Amino acid sequence: MGRRRKKKVIKIVKPKIPEVFTCPICGSKSLTVKIDKKKQKGKVVCGSCGVSWETEIQGYEEKIDLYHMFFDKFSEGEIV
Ligand SMILES: [Zn+2]
Repeated sequence: MGRRRKKKVIKIVKPKIPEVFTCPICGSKSLTVKIDKKKQKGKVVCGSCGVSWETEIQGYEEKIDLYHMFFDKFSEGEIV
């Protein structure tokens, strides 16, 4: 039984939620989402075109959810 234990551990990398999203307005990848769970506020800001959008959150939302909400609002024409 000469099996050596291999030290190499293969890590399973979970798909990460991106920290920066693509801005639906200017198309550049500089849209950041901030979540303040204490104040129950979410904020989406684009570092490129300067659009910013704030909303109330329940506290369980992830950044990606905020992004989708922002995207929906934008699609509805509420964000210019
Ligand atoms: Zn933008």
